[in-house]
Amino acid sequence: MEIILIFIAVIIGLIIGSFLNVCIHRIPKGLSIIRPRRSLCPKCSNTLNFYDNIPVVSFIVLRGKCRNCKNPISARYPITELITAFITALMFFKWSSNPFWLIAVLLSSYIFIIIAIIDFETLMIADIFSYAIGFIGLSFSFFNPYFSGEPLQKLAQSAIGALVGAALIWLLAFIGKKIYKKEAVGEGDIFLMAAIGAMLGIEGIISSLIMASLFGSVYGITLMILKKAKRFDHIPFGPFLSLSAIINMYSLVKLNTFFFYI
Ligand SMILES: [Zn+2]
Repeated sequence: MEIILIFIAVIIGLIIGSFLNVCIHRIPKGLSIIRPRRSLCPKCSNTLNFYDNIPVVSFIVLRGKCRNCKNPISARYPITELITAFITALMFFKWSSNPFWLIAVLLSSYIFIIIAIIDFETLMIADIFSYAIGFIGLSFSFFNPYFSGEPLQKLAQSAIGALVGAALIWLLAFIGKKIYKKEAVGEGDIFLMAAIGAMLGIEGIISSLIMASLFGSVYGITLMILKKAKRFDHIPFGPFLSLSAIINMYSLVKLNTFFFYI
């Protein structure tokens, strides 16, 4: 039974991942995500046949090239679909006993994926996505397994998480500006931190910030070693914050995990 559920979750995840690709491609260009309904090749504008638009499978069958113009298709398409399927299956597996929280973590994971990839590709975070996650965090706070007490107390823990998230990154931006004399944190990161705080509360938002900083540092140092970036090049923070938030929604990495090793 369990295997069948996971299989269904993977299929649903692949299909949703395919839709997330449409959002990731069209939203930064200001295009409608509903029309045209069928996907186009971004190079030759040829409308894709349904059999050339099957998540992951079509990419492999077509060997990563458009059937019409033979231009390469971005590997981002199958990667997004696989990541979405993987996260959907994991969350189903972990949270099927708490269906309302499962809905909240799935919806916000999908928005985090859009935020992460758009920020990675364009260095922009559209605040509307952060508002949406913040709204999900507050309205599903009653089912949040990381909060405790009466319903109103849970709502308060969500709201306080949002405020602490915004305050933390604002403080970091303020200190960064004093030290480096330039903007170190984007405005979009402030709303994103508030959104994560609303989903995860105080411990979750601090944990996410520490994890994101670790991931970001590893990424930055790797780029410098590979000579792909200089010390003060702008590295997007949104992807690492999003990844950390998804990990924490799956299972909270408690703060003493980080301090245990010090
Ligand atoms: Zn084409």
